[in-house]
Formats: sequence, C-alpha cells, structure tokens
Amino acid sequence: MTNPILTDADIDTSAIRGKPVAIIGYGNQGRAQALNLRDSGVDVTVGLRSGSASEAAARTDGFEPLPMTEAAARADIVILLVPDEVQPELWNETLSGAARKGATIGFAHGLAIHYGLIEPRADLDVILVAPKGPGKALRADYERGSGLISLVAVAQDASGTARATALAYAGALGCGRAGILETSFQQETEADLFNEQGVLWGVIPELIEAGFDTLVDAGFAPEIAYFECLTEVKLLADLIYERGIAGMRGAISNTAEFGAAEGSGRIVTAEARAEMKRILAEVQDGSFVRRLMADARAGYPALRASRARAAAHPVEAVAARMRALKSKR
Ligand code: NDP
Ligand code: MG
Repeated sequence: MTNPILTDADIDTSAIRGKPVAIIGYGNQGRAQALNLRDSGVDVTVGLRSGSASEAAARTDGFEPLPMTEAAARADIVILLVPDEVQPELWNETLSGAARKGATIGFAHGLAIHYGLIEPRADLDVILVAPKGPGKALRADYERGSGLISLVAVAQDASGTARATALAYAGALGCGRAGILETSFQQETEADLFNEQGVLWGVIPELIEAGFDTLVDAGFAPEIAYFECLTEVKLLADLIYERGIAGMRGAISNTAEFGAAEGSGRIVTAEARAEMKRILAEVQDGSFVRRLMADARAGYPALRASRARAAAHPVEAVAARMRALKSKR
C-alpha cells in the first residue's frame, strides 16, 4: 500500500492556530519540537516534573516550564515526549485527569497507544506525529529552512478534526517542507520496534563489532580494524542515503563492488532472515513490549547490562583514541 506524500501545500495551518500546545518532557524530541513550534508561531508551554534535570535547558531556551499537570491543563494539544515506558503511568495516573475536555493528545511514537498501555478518555483526539530522525536533526533541519520527513496517524477522532490537527502540527515542526506520510499507529509502532532490533541499533553495531573482532583476533592492528569496520560505515550510510543501495555501487571501486557480491548472502543467510521474522513476531504479539516494561519496572537491569557490555568492547578504546586525534587536528 503506498500513500501520497503530503507537504505544506496540503496542510491547513489554521487547525492549530491559536491553540495552546503543552510539550511534556524536554529531552531529545521535546526540546526540538518545542523550539520548532515556537518559531512557527505556536503558543507552546513546556511541562516538567518537579526538580527536573531539563529545567535549566528549557529556561536557557527562553521557556518558563510549568509543572506537567498545569501545562496539560492549559493546553488544547498535549504532546507526550517522555520515554515510552514512562508514558503509561504518567498519563494514566497524572495527566489524564488534568487534560481539558476535548483536547488532543499526541505522541512521537505509537507504543503506549498501540499496545493499550494508555486507553485515552473518549472525549480526546489521539494523534501521532513521528519525525523520522533524532531531535537534533529535527531542529537543525528546521533552522536551515528544510525539514525532516514525518509519519502522522490518528488513533481516536472524537472531534472529527484529528487528522487536520496532526497535519498542522507536523507542518509546524517543519516536516511539511520535506514530506508527511500518513500511516497508522500499528504500522509506525511495529515497524519502528522491528527496525530498532532487526536492522539498526541491534544488528549493524553488532556486525561492526564482529568484523572488528575478526580482524583483531587474526593479528591486525586495532586501528586498522577500527577504520575498516567502523568509520567506513558513515561513508556507506551517506552514500545509500543519497543514492540508494544500487546507486551506492557507482561510487565504490570495482574491487569493493565485486567484494560486495561475494559477501552477499553469507552473513545475512536464510537463517538470519528467519530470525528477523521471529523478531517481528515478538514485536507484533506484544512479548517484546512486555519485556521492555518489566525491565523498566525493575530499574532497567537488562538495559544497564547491555550498556555495560557495549562500553567494555575493545573497539571502544580505539574509537576514543581516534576521536581524540581527530579533535586535535
Ligand atoms: P528523552 O529520554 O529524551 O526524554 C527525556 C524527558 O523525559 C526529560 O524531560 C525527562 O525529564 C522526562 N522524563 C523522563 N522520565 C520521566 C519520568 N519518570 N517522569 C516525568 N518525566 C520524565 O525521550 P525522547 O525524546 O528520546 O523520546 C520521547 C518520545 O519520542 C518517545 O515516544 C520516543 O519513542 C519518541 N521518539 C524519539 C526519537 C528520538 O530521536 N529520541 C525519534 C522519534 C520519536 P527530566 O529532565 O526531569 O529527567
Ligand atoms: Mg523508536
């Protein structure tokens, strides 16, 4: 199923004009979204927990943060930009009772709604505006006059105007300068969770480590292994982003391209593809999210152990030395 890509020309900005927005949380997405909205002329209030570590940053940026419930209570549109596993308790126990009747609640990722961890009041509109990139890129692109591609979706349309609100919100983030793709909470959530594990943050770094280990175990200098297996990933990512995978081949040597053909199918085997399907199945049946929520409740033992493993890998010491060299130049 392909959807049309919408841009600013398709958006009715009046859908959020004059509507106060509360940005709950001032982290990666929260800061970028609050700044972009304000620069687009939207009335934005930042909501933070008491004693928040982000309060100073918000004040430096010119906001006067309010306690979360107060920010939510004065807004027509409340956007939850705290970590996904924090959203259910925060909404269900605190913010749901504070939000105005007929308000809109919005998310940058559909997890809490899609898995039923938040069951919003029936009078609310529920929207998803998910910029496809980190907050820093969302802000930097906006400042440059361009924008990040964004997904939008509607989970609940009490007012009959939820879609218009979502599009106008995405437009105010600058995403209409690039492109807005309509989707569902289900597609955004499951595809994002799958990609995080099966491709991006789970697999590519592990491939880099495995390649590094292979060379170092065979007696190669760690610096050589680092350059070959880690830094060149940036070159690859830039090339496939700009030209696609087939187009990338035009920018590499015949030797590299012949090597690409020889390596293909040997690591990403039929078995690896079958495992990808199992990852997707665990995303879709909710078992991944149950493990995530259980780890969060226990104080993240699994998450902390995996952080420690990554930090202890020998590639980190070389990477730190090489980054230090680069910053001296
Ligand atoms: P962050 O981890 O950067 O959020 C940090 C903010 O959440 C801080 O203001 C922090 O408050 C607040 N916070 C954390 N825990 C609590 C708590 N228990 N109670 C109240 N406030 C809390 O989140 P992200 O920006 O990474 O993610 C926000 C949403 O955006 C998620 O749904 C995520 O999936 C989505 N998203 C994220 C992207 C990204 O680039 N990171 C990309 C696209 C979507 P304090 O300052 O007080 O610690
Ligand atoms: Mg994600």
